[in-house]
Amino acid sequence: MGLCTYKISIKGTVQGVGFRPFIYQVATKFSLYGTVLNGTEGVEIVVNASKDKLEEFIEVIKSKLPPLASIDTLKVEQIEPKNFSDFQIIQTDSCGEKTVNIPPDISICKACEKELFDPKNRRYAYPFITCTHCGVRYSIIYDLPYDRGNTSMKFFKMCKACEEEYTNPMDRRYHAQPIGCWECGASLELRVDRCGVVDGAVELIKQGKILAIKGVGGYHLVCDATNEEAVLKLRERKQRPTKPFAVMVKDIEMAREWGEINADEEKLLTSIERPIVIVGKRTSRPTGIAPNLSRIGLFLPYTPLHLLLLTKLNRPLVATSANISDEPLATNRESIEKLSNVYDFLLDHNREIVNGCDDSVVMVVKGQTIMLRRARGYAPVKVELPFKLDKKVLAMGANQKSTIAIGFDNQVILSPHIGDLDSIGSVEYYEKNIESLKRIYGFEPEVVAYDRHPNYESSKYAKRYYGNSTLREVQHHYAHILGVMAEKQIRGKVFGVAFDGTGYGDDGNLWGGEFMVCDYEGYERVAHLNYFKLLGGVKAIKEPKRVALSLLFECYGDEVFKLNTPTTKAFTQQELKTQHIMWQKGLNAPLSSSVGRLFDAVASLTGVCQIMSFEGESGMRLEELYSNSVEGLYPFGYENGVVDVLPMIKEIIKEHNQQVAISKFFHTLVAMVEAVYEPYDLPLVLSGGVFQNRVLLELLFERFSNAVIGNIIPPNDGGIALGQVVGA
Ligand code: ZN
Ligand code: ZN
Ligand code: FE
Repeated sequence: MGLCTYKISIKGTVQGVGFRPFIYQVATKFSLYGTVLNGTEGVEIVVNASKDKLEEFIEVIKSKLPPLASIDTLKVEQIEPKNFSDFQIIQTDSCGEKTVNIPPDISICKACEKELFDPKNRRYAYPFITCTHCGVRYSIIYDLPYDRGNTSMKFFKMCKACEEEYTNPMDRRYHAQPIGCWECGASLELRVDRCGVVDGAVELIKQGKILAIKGVGGYHLVCDATNEEAVLKLRERKQRPTKPFAVMVKDIEMAREWGEINADEEKLLTSIERPIVIVGKRTSRPTGIAPNLSRIGLFLPYTPLHLLLLTKLNRPLVATSANISDEPLATNRESIEKLSNVYDFLLDHNREIVNGCDDSVVMVVKGQTIMLRRARGYAPVKVELPFKLDKKVLAMGANQKSTIAIGFDNQVILSPHIGDLDSIGSVEYYEKNIESLKRIYGFEPEVVAYDRHPNYESSKYAKRYYGNSTLREVQHHYAHILGVMAEKQIRGKVFGVAFDGTGYGDDGNLWGGEFMVCDYEGYERVAHLNYFKLLGGVKAIKEPKRVALSLLFECYGDEVFKLNTPTTKAFTQQELKTQHIMWQKGLNAPLSSSVGRLFDAVASLTGVCQIMSFEGESGMRLEELYSNSVEGLYPFGYENGVVDVLPMIKEIIKEHNQQVAISKFFHTLVAMVEAVYEPYDLPLVLSGGVFQNRVLLELLFERFSNAVIGNIIPPNDGGIALGQVVGA
């Protein structure tokens, strides 16, 4: 019966996910002889089989994949006959190109959860229990291939019992790199006299203390979410007056006590990625967690440690990323100790976090998942392009919510959310991320893509380390649109709407209300919001009243002094006069066409918010005041490619009902898109930070059923890097 030797090469997410033991088990079942190994290009199987058996074998591989595995390509070729007397898993080969995907960190699986709470199991209550189908990956990797020696588990020597599981291909823990137990693995330490570490931590949380707890990709600051006093203490110490906190709940039932959760949201909450999901808040809940907001970020425990804590505590926990404002997430003892004035106790462990990774944040709008922060569980992620890149590209991202990306062949690897590059510490963290991505993938770029903005730290980095011949500038909003086109594999022209905070425009002004016809070759800016001056430059970004005042000057000149509006009341007469001079002379008043700033202006004019305490606050507050029972919209101009908002501003200040003014403002934005898009018969692509606004997005989805937005990449600047790869 003609046995031949075949080589099967499989690429995709096939390492660190129990793929080889799975192949071993299938081969054994089919009584096939041969080998399987992990190469840097994926998994390679060599088997002796008849043609029929081979086909069946491949069919089973494809249809019965382990839960975390996925196959991108599977190639079969017949090779020189070889002799085998059994089926074996052979040692890793580490040459060749590194094209394997790094698996993200995912939540504890059901089988491990069962053992965690089983007093007879040897890992009972062990806070780091894991197997091939669950647990940490990305956060502990130094290098590929994904083997224990290339992770921060290399410092822990396996005990006999663990080693037996690790080397038994029939075991659930075969080659589960992070395995360990009470005997041999990572351990917890509560920096206080002990009484059983987890119990001790639970007791302290119940007493209203604030703890720093080391998780997967960094530390959290936590406290009892039902203890208003503790929550306020955390706010005060972290100097974070109003920005909402995320809440970790024990399970989906507890989530329902806190939030209004629909089926899509439940699916996300309980998914293996376990992101923070923004849901409607039950109104009876305390206000200190998300002041003035009707939405709340909830997530479920994702590590055995969190599961133990929450189960014993049986209360929700405020769990917010541990960092000092503008600094990156704390990932080691040294960085967390800088926050020792914020927490009372530290629950630490001795497994090193190699790659920091924040919690992911998502929301669901009209059934679509909108990524607000792509990190733990989802990242790093691979995106396939509709075409092949002829050079290796490194994309530096933007300055806020930065991410980086590397592109080769027809794929792009996107880093997790790195954060804002507003401090020396965060820039260092950013550089470390670039280095580790390059190291892990053995990647040297031939082209480096970066944002036009000369003052972005990411642009400075590009220019510091790479020569002119490799550098390519990509305009910010073009990159926003390109990112979505690449994710959705759209070929040909699209009509892109980039509503954004601010990004550097080709004319040196700060763009952000852009309508552009784009393809992969380039773009044409067909329309934009009228320019207005940002009084005080960067100050205007935090102070909506400055943007609003500028628009009032545009409308009324020095008549503004006689107006009686929430905006003008937020200044003294003297300040108004000074600002008027600055406005007239254009001193420290860059021009902007940003819709993000227009939101700020409306928040100020309606008296909702004059100075913001966190980025995006004005948009969130306007969302709250929108009412779908209000009809109608405001007039606006549209001529020669300029959308004029001044007629709308003049009407808004006449309206004394906040809800009416704000609802009509939203409707006007939709009408603006409608007016500009109308003559084009092209797909409509939405991107830019303003589309984090749920109300605006819902209205646009209702109006344009064909509107496309990213689901993998965030609409904010976290999506820029993907667009830059394609743009370069
Ligand atoms: Zn498991
Ligand atoms: Zn052990
Ligand atoms: Fe942007």
